[in-house]
Amino acid sequence: GDIELRRVREHVWEIPQEGEMNAPARVLASEALLEQIGQDKTLEQLRNATHLPGITNHAICMPDGHQGYGFPVGGVGATDATDGCISPGAVGYDINCGVRMMTTNLTYEDLKGKEAELVDALFEAIPSGLGGGGVVTGDAETIDDILARGMEWALDAGYATEDDLAHCEDEGSRDDARPEYVSQKAKDRGRNQIGSLGSGNHFLEVQRVTDVYREDVAESFGLEADQIVVLIHCGSRGLGHQTCTDYLRRIEKEHADLLEELPDKELAAAPARSQLAEEYYGAMCAAINFAWVNRQLVMHRTREVFADVFDRDWRDMEMRLLYDVAHNIAKKEVHTVDGEDRELYVHRKGATRAFPAGRPELPPAYADVGQPVIIPGSMGAGSYILRGGESSLDLTFGSTAHGAGRLMSRTQAKQEYWGETVQEELREQQKIFVKAQSGATVAEEAPGVYKDVDEVVRVSDELGIGDKVVRTFPVCNIKG
Ligand code: 5GP
Ligand code: MN
Ligand code: MN
Repeated sequence: GDIELRRVREHVWEIPQEGEMNAPARVLASEALLEQIGQDKTLEQLRNATHLPGITNHAICMPDGHQGYGFPVGGVGATDATDGCISPGAVGYDINCGVRMMTTNLTYEDLKGKEAELVDALFEAIPSGLGGGGVVTGDAETIDDILARGMEWALDAGYATEDDLAHCEDEGSRDDARPEYVSQKAKDRGRNQIGSLGSGNHFLEVQRVTDVYREDVAESFGLEADQIVVLIHCGSRGLGHQTCTDYLRRIEKEHADLLEELPDKELAAAPARSQLAEEYYGAMCAAINFAWVNRQLVMHRTREVFADVFDRDWRDMEMRLLYDVAHNIAKKEVHTVDGEDRELYVHRKGATRAFPAGRPELPPAYADVGQPVIIPGSMGAGSYILRGGESSLDLTFGSTAHGAGRLMSRTQAKQEYWGETVQEELREQQKIFVKAQSGATVAEEAPGVYKDVDEVVRVSDELGIGDKVVRTFPVCNIKG
């Protein structure tokens, strides 16, 4: 497009403030990534985001950024929680889509020869795809309990341990959740999907650790070379999607004057402290809790499958949650802006919180090292564990990337790739065992549809927003 970027310093680019913009915008990228980011509507959407009332410092695009609904995926926008606004499009439809990693004491040697059996057993046991059901079905009371208490519900119901809760962002439960603000329709869509991957981009991947970059941090995370780990990526399913839809429609109507001032209808926002802002925030926090329970139940099932396949108790295999991170979320957080502490709605859409040591939100296990940050690559490339970097609070309100980021649309992907071929090549050339609901899914998620995750992580590490700790490589993968 015609958007001019000014180079601030290495990996930092700025769209200067002009006209109706309330702040400048920034893109954090290498030149190679910037060129890819400039090929769709990302920069235009990023500039549009600076029109949101109360936007603070900059609207920021992470190195994995690409276009999304109204607001870029890989976007961070912090708005004043007193006189700014909250925008559902800047959170995303899949509220609390996120990833968690479970570690084990198994090595790649222990798993070799069992890949086909393991991938089949996982695919069989873990609900995936558009319909599919869940690990449990909830009645009305259960749904409300899950929405109100998140992983505390899972603990009481026997699906989680205290240790699991201690290793989840916000201990897997947001106090601000208000189930009464989630519509009946949304609850109905969620009740059969508790503990399910969903479709397309969501997955469960068994991986092995291949590279260790920061020995000391890896050690405090309990990670070492050759170790088997499990990565789970899913969100709040139909419940979160419906919640986003419900509030977008209401906000468009009830805050039509604010909508008039915004350059894109998809940025619809509710003014901070309005009734609708409070309701959306309460409903979104409830959907966040639902997603944490969802990932917990998928992990619980995974432990059962490993116990079956390896004929050992999962506790024996030390299958522990390393961390669970949200990447579609808005949170009230306090940040220092121009020397003053301010409460902000930090919108992270396709962006991961990356708090360094010392932030009060961190669990005791990570208080002195910084939080683990999980960055998936693709089913044919590496994934990374980082730790929250010292510069993240200054540059990104404590955030970094959430993946490699898409390079081409699903439609384009299906023209470029044929699912069965991709699957065979992964198996024969890289010893990666993939099982999916359909060939189309594999084509849409082929490794080539994503940007270079090594480059995304290099930028994050060089900027000091998220520091490289280890790299992993896929062994088995199941896709929705
Ligand atoms: P999103 O949440 O935006 O759909 O995707 C998160 C990231 O996951 C993508 O940007 C991509 O880099 C990564 N990803 C997608 N599919 C896979 C997969 O099968 N395995 C791994 N390891 N990463 C994936
Ligand atoms: Mn999702
Ligand atoms: Mn996601």
